[in-house]
Amino acid sequence: MTDAGTPASDGGHPAKTVPYGRAPRYGEEELQELREALEQGTLFYAQGKKVYALEAAFAAYVGARHAVTTTSGTASIHAALIALGVAPGDEVITSPITDMGSVIPILFQGAAPVFADLDPRTYTMDPAAVEAAITPRTAAVVAVHLAGNACNLDALQAVCARHGVALIEDCAQAFGCRYGERFAGTIGRVGCFSFNEFKHISCGDGGIVVTDDDELAARLRLATDKCYDRRPDAAIRNPSFLANNYRMTELQAAVALAQLRKLEGILARRRSWCGRLMAATADLPGLLPPTITPQCTPSWWFYMMRAAEGANAHRTDQLAGALRAEGLPVGAHYIGQPVYEYPIFTSGSAFSRGEHAYQTHAYGRGLCPEAERILETCLILSVNEAYTDQDLEETIAGMHRAAAWAMAQDTPGDGA
Ligand SMILES: *Cc1c(COP(=O)(O)O)cnc(C)c1O
Repeated sequence: MTDAGTPASDGGHPAKTVPYGRAPRYGEEELQELREALEQGTLFYAQGKKVYALEAAFAAYVGARHAVTTTSGTASIHAALIALGVAPGDEVITSPITDMGSVIPILFQGAAPVFADLDPRTYTMDPAAVEAAITPRTAAVVAVHLAGNACNLDALQAVCARHGVALIEDCAQAFGCRYGERFAGTIGRVGCFSFNEFKHISCGDGGIVVTDDDELAARLRLATDKCYDRRPDAAIRNPSFLANNYRMTELQAAVALAQLRKLEGILARRRSWCGRLMAATADLPGLLPPTITPQCTPSWWFYMMRAAEGANAHRTDQLAGALRAEGLPVGAHYIGQPVYEYPIFTSGSAFSRGEHAYQTHAYGRGLCPEAERILETCLILSVNEAYTDQDLEETIAGMHRAAAWAMAQDTPGDGA
């Protein structure tokens, strides 16, 4: 053990001596953009400049031909499914460890979510499990770049191409994440992002979808605007498919524009902080650091570790308690249970009556064993771009002490 000091769980002083760094997210830059938006005299995207400016800036930033704004990450994924023509009775493969925002749109399209198991160290979908889950009904894969770490996109892309299935990237946790030289979100047919309050950059709520496909981009625009066609030469009201109203307002776009200019700075600080943390805690006993997907430069939405091989939920809680005693912002088990164990799945209760394709699927414990093991033993450290070097040193010291303390405890029921 490199760091001396009595663990806080044994009555020592907590490793963390000052509160973690914090910084206001919004300031003058956002106010200036908002003022300009209001002075336009309209907040409607098709009459103003901010939504179109945000879409152009974001497309240029990630290197996509098109970007279309929406009202949320959930709306982004729904717009993608609508534009791709996902229909009732279809199946869509996704991750069992994600936000409901990845799954809600699948159900609203009348399609059945199918869950593919995860890699135990990158926490992203195992391409072999995705391929094994493909059936003649599979229309799309929603690949979740969890915690800002990209899926194995080369392999997923190959699987999707082989079976003629659309690859949708859920980048809600992965703003600015790179895969090789390219941005996550630009490798599949569509990439979907969220500007909700808790993501890397925010406008309160909002979303954006990117694609290189001209035709798909036109359908995405219709999918977010009631299938009304706002192009100068078109008859506005002539809807040909079921769309929604997922229109971003000029106010949201104004804030998001100012936020987008801050993104690379935010990412640089998170990468530096998490990179140093990972290097200094790579070999701790009983605590596994995350594995970065090959070719990926992650965007570190949070830092997710696991209690080592052989640990159970009890050991994980013990470790989380010891880390919190050192003053570290750590939670155990992330979302608690895989998405498919929520009552909406186990009870088939998405709608109060009537039939839905997903009710013919079996959901429940045992579906994705690796995902279940990940949730049983994972520990999440919150990360923020305002964290300082002192925060880093104290976090490292706290992790060393907590890991050593946990190793010294009895191991009742281990391996159970
Ligand atoms: C946040 C999130 C969403 C949903 O985004 P909202 O803007 O909250 O609708 C979808 N998928 C993942 C992985 C997320 O983290």
